Amino acid sequence: MSSNSIPQNATTAPPLLPLPPGSTIGILGGGQLGRMLALAAARLGLKAHIYCARQSDNPAFHVAAAHTIADFNDTSALEAFASAVDVVTFEFENVPAQTLAFLAAKIPVFPGQQALEVTQDRLDEKLFLRQQQLPVPPFKEVNTPHDLTDFIDEHGPCILKTRRLGYDGKGQMIVPDPSKAGAAFAHLKGAKVPLIAEALVDFEREISVICVCSGEGEQRFYDICENRHDNGILRETQIPATVTDQTAAQARRITSKIAQALDYIGILTVEMFVADHPEGRQLLVNEIAPRVHNSGHWTLDACPVSQFENHIRAIAGWPLGSTTRHSDCLMRNLIGTEANAWPTLAAEAETALHLYGKTEALSGRKMGHITRLTPKPAPNCE
Ligand code: AMP
Repeated sequence: MSSNSIPQNATTAPPLLPLPPGSTIGILGGGQLGRMLALAAARLGLKAHIYCARQSDNPAFHVAAAHTIADFNDTSALEAFASAVDVVTFEFENVPAQTLAFLAAKIPVFPGQQALEVTQDRLDEKLFLRQQQLPVPPFKEVNTPHDLTDFIDEHGPCILKTRRLGYDGKGQMIVPDPSKAGAAFAHLKGAKVPLIAEALVDFEREISVICVCSGEGEQRFYDICENRHDNGILRETQIPATVTDQTAAQARRITSKIAQALDYIGILTVEMFVADHPEGRQLLVNEIAPRVHNSGHWTLDACPVSQFENHIRAIAGWPLGSTTRHSDCLMRNLIGTEANAWPTLAAEAETALHLYGKTEALSGRKMGHITRLTPKPAPNCE
């Protein structure tokens, strides 16, 4: 067992039987995360069947044994999907909860319903974290412009966010002072969706913790990732993160507690802010992702078993793989037309290039990523 591994008490669930090679993993969602999950499944001799609601550029289709295009509420398509696969997972947290419940009545689904429901609504997620006595920035449900001005009066500048369906910085706005509250509220509320305000954290850095949880309650952690965002979109992830051993251990404890509370199976990612506090550095949980995560793409090139393969292993009842890292690295997303530089990037030494096979390089769209590897310094033996 690696030093990053935390054995847990046995969970209530019966042990998962390992699915033999040749079995089929059902994946809800056809984006790049689904594509990398399908590739990881293939490495283990497993097949992937992608279920997707949109007939557009679905990069996961190119590498999967089968796919279905149908609404997430199309019960006959879901029925056929359930009978064609051996286990179901998802690559994004905006799958309707009823879809997961429908499938879970017929076939194992990991991670489970609770993890999906808690994390697809930012307010429910914050309330869950607070209930677990885990640290979060101040927040408030916002139903009127008055709620927002009250919050800013108490906590200063804030970020107003849609509670659901936001990603890559979409559906959120910084509100610097009460005079901007009315306009920000009107802008986001224009979509008639519930909102949440969060205090704007003056963070020192952003980190994420990626953990894999088995059906037997074992947890293993990848090294902490340090993330840099631009307009809400992840630009770069650096490994190792510039955090003390103490901060890293606290970040793992927080993640472990979340995983246990959610009875979690698969890869769990927790994004956190490292902020200054009068009593020392403080960790605040920003967001929980019940899935493989962009900040873990480096594991494809710097670890014997990537986050994608470990997710497949966990949900298929296989032994978890090593989460140790053999190199330092910098992962950089290729956004929009940046991917056009592929001939130069492909020629770079010590750089692993990943292109997702998307046809339209729209602005803000993740088209691929690179991971630049450097040797990991030898441990200090003094
Ligand atoms: P999110 O979609 O909530 O993860 O937000 C995307 C990015 O916006 C985060 O990674 C941060 O860089 C920034 N952000 C989100 N919430 C806050 C906050 N409460 N304070 C400061 N920055 C934030």
